[in-house]
Amino acid sequence: MNLWRSLSARRRAFAITGASVLVAGGLVTIPVTAAQAATQCSIDYTTNDWSSGFTGSITIRNVGDPISSWNLGFTFPNSSQRVVQGWSAKWSQSGQNVTVTNESYNGSLASGGSATIGFNGSWSGSNPKPTSFTLNGVVCNGGVTPTTPPPTTPPPTTPPPTTPPPTTPPPTTPPPTTPPPGQKVDNPYVGVKGYVNPEWKAKADAEAGGSRVSNNPTAVWLDRIAAINGTTDSSSNGAMGVKDHLDAALAQGAGYIQFVIYNLPGRDCSALASNGELAADELPRYKAEYIDPIAAIQSNPKYASLRIINIIEIDSLPNLVTNTSGNAGGTVQCDVVKANGAYVNGVGYALSKLGPIGSVYNYIDAGHHGWLGWDTNFGPTADVLKTAAVASGSNVNYVHGFITNTANYSALKEPYIKITDSVNGQTVRQSKWIDWNFYVDELTFAQAFRTKLVSVGFNSNIGMLIDTSRNGWGGTARPTGPGASTSVDTYVNGGRVDRRFHAGNWCNQVGAGLGERPKANPEPGIDAYVWVKPPGESDGSSSLIPNNEGKGFDRMCDPTYTGNARNGNSMSGALPNAPISGAWFSAQFQELMKNAYPAL
Ligand code: BGC
Repeated sequence: MNLWRSLSARRRAFAITGASVLVAGGLVTIPVTAAQAATQCSIDYTTNDWSSGFTGSITIRNVGDPISSWNLGFTFPNSSQRVVQGWSAKWSQSGQNVTVTNESYNGSLASGGSATIGFNGSWSGSNPKPTSFTLNGVVCNGGVTPTTPPPTTPPPTTPPPTTPPPTTPPPTTPPPTTPPPGQKVDNPYVGVKGYVNPEWKAKADAEAGGSRVSNNPTAVWLDRIAAINGTTDSSSNGAMGVKDHLDAALAQGAGYIQFVIYNLPGRDCSALASNGELAADELPRYKAEYIDPIAAIQSNPKYASLRIINIIEIDSLPNLVTNTSGNAGGTVQCDVVKANGAYVNGVGYALSKLGPIGSVYNYIDAGHHGWLGWDTNFGPTADVLKTAAVASGSNVNYVHGFITNTANYSALKEPYIKITDSVNGQTVRQSKWIDWNFYVDELTFAQAFRTKLVSVGFNSNIGMLIDTSRNGWGGTARPTGPGASTSVDTYVNGGRVDRRFHAGNWCNQVGAGLGERPKANPEPGIDAYVWVKPPGESDGSSSLIPNNEGKGFDRMCDPTYTGNARNGNSMSGALPNAPISGAWFSAQFQELMKNAYPAL
């Protein structure tokens, strides 16, 4: 985990209670004689560790006078150690300091009484136990002789036991590894492994060299009503439906699974390649035939142990800001779905049905830096996202976070260009490539947009996801240093790792590679790098291919296209001979592996 998230993104209250210390690999019982004779405590602190996470259990034992409420404090030795989710008390963490206060039902501890609390945590490097605990401000010192002189008052007539007998036997069942149903963890990617879609894996494995990447978790796209139960007639989706994938996730022992909710009425209003099955006025069908059945399956208690992550409606809400009348490239279809509320109300409805499910985590799509990185788009998009989040009975608590760069190619980091750089007195923002954008890469954009979203009313602990499935930009064309300082354009064009003709190009890009492998908590404010667009699935056909999915032909997927206002009248940069969106595109998969960054 990172500091930024610890300070600003992880303010969710956690529950905790306890007093006696047991550590990973062993029990350390520390009876406590406090400076104030009345408060004495011992703590058992135990952890069950796995690769990047752990479950902690703390038993607080009151070996002093009765107390009616308590506040436990401790400090993690390492900055990487974080409480992700706690239970049986209210938990909070600031820096390495953890504070836990009782719930109403376990604040009262008789002499000899105890309370046991627990939490899921994350760590990297090592996971040492805290060395000291306080209860109501008094150090639980394990009966060790205080460094201050011993009290002149006589000791209590009954000295505190060195190991106080528990009033309740220690639990015989291990602490839960997942929080009780209904409690969502702050970051669902932490400490658990992701579901590998066997249908995608089979296609990747069938490619030469594909087994090097086929074990990565990728999202399952529910791109039409038929995908809910599984399709057999489609070129782009498999026979497995939502239930089949959830069952397979349980069988894999996966901790999280990712679905893409992608079927709005009048879908993909600014382009043609991913137009869908529902017409712009079919919001009732979206609700009844699409969202409701998905919610019914995801809420099955059988799946309560899985963290079900829903990526909500790619490109939809940003399109309402940038691709409606009054904008260069505005389309009639975007005007229609803006006017009739199909997108705002559809997204609101999806959130309102999926958000209340205890194990579901909703992340709304939030475009990418090459789309929203100008002030004219940045703030207005945050506002539209907020409007949708409170539409149709939803509220901001049903939004766990946002995702950027879904199915796009924007570089995660531009190592050789900072937006504050200037060349010969001119800001790089003035270069043709950056074109006055305020962001030069996806990470800086996602972090800044997160802050903006909190400022418009989203919860302060939201996290961002970045789709890194295809933004690697490695291979032989990757620059190894800054461009020449002749002009802002030579500097930017020579140094940028994103080799597209234009940052607005989005279809089957030549030269793109697999990006960062899926990873939890990679940077401050970022819940995870994820592979939402399954690598190898086409963005759109390079010429018209008749199909029964509503998919059109968009010239941005035609390698001979010379562009339009939205891509600076640049070449499309698309690979040739592509099938319709979602269908397997072997040549692209090979291109992505060849240009992977980090390299395979
Ligand atoms: C397509 C979907 C497909 C998804 C993932 C989208 O562009 O429209 O049909 O499931 O990509 O490949």
